[in-house]
Amino acid sequence: MDDKDLQYLVEKISLYEFGKHFQHTAMFNSRLRTTGGRYLLQSHNIEINKKYLDQLGEEELVGIIKHELCHYHLHIEGKGYQHRDRDFRELLTKVKAPRFCSMLPERKEQKRLQKTIIYRCTNCQLVYHRKRSINTEKYVCGKCRGKLKFVKELTNR
Ligand SMILES: [Zn+2]
Ligand SMILES: [Zn+2]
Repeated sequence: MDDKDLQYLVEKISLYEFGKHFQHTAMFNSRLRTTGGRYLLQSHNIEINKKYLDQLGEEELVGIIKHELCHYHLHIEGKGYQHRDRDFRELLTKVKAPRFCSMLPERKEQKRLQKTIIYRCTNCQLVYHRKRSINTEKYVCGKCRGKLKFVKELTNR
């Protein structure tokens, strides 16, 4: 699937699900990381994360397109187009669009393999779990201001 196919699909879903034309541009953007897609307020264009299609399939893609089209049509019509707006939530329900995008399997994997770094206060022995390493020269124990010492690094599995 390329940008042209995507454009066609977005136009089709817009007409079929919303009964309205999509008159701007839809394209894949490989730089999107944590979201499946986004609607650009300035240009009215829709960008889609191609990884979602590759990893989760076309059904997921259709859901993302419907979600972005909710932003699109409401924004163009001057209605509440943001996630917290009632108009937005009602339209999502009406077209059965997902409220949030599923996380990419790739990201789930990353999350699963996240590290935990353990430090201990050399004074009061309080243990600290941190996602990232900290500068033990700079940071001290929150309880007694004692010096922290690196203990070990765990990988959550
Ligand atoms: Zn959204
Ligand atoms: Zn301490």
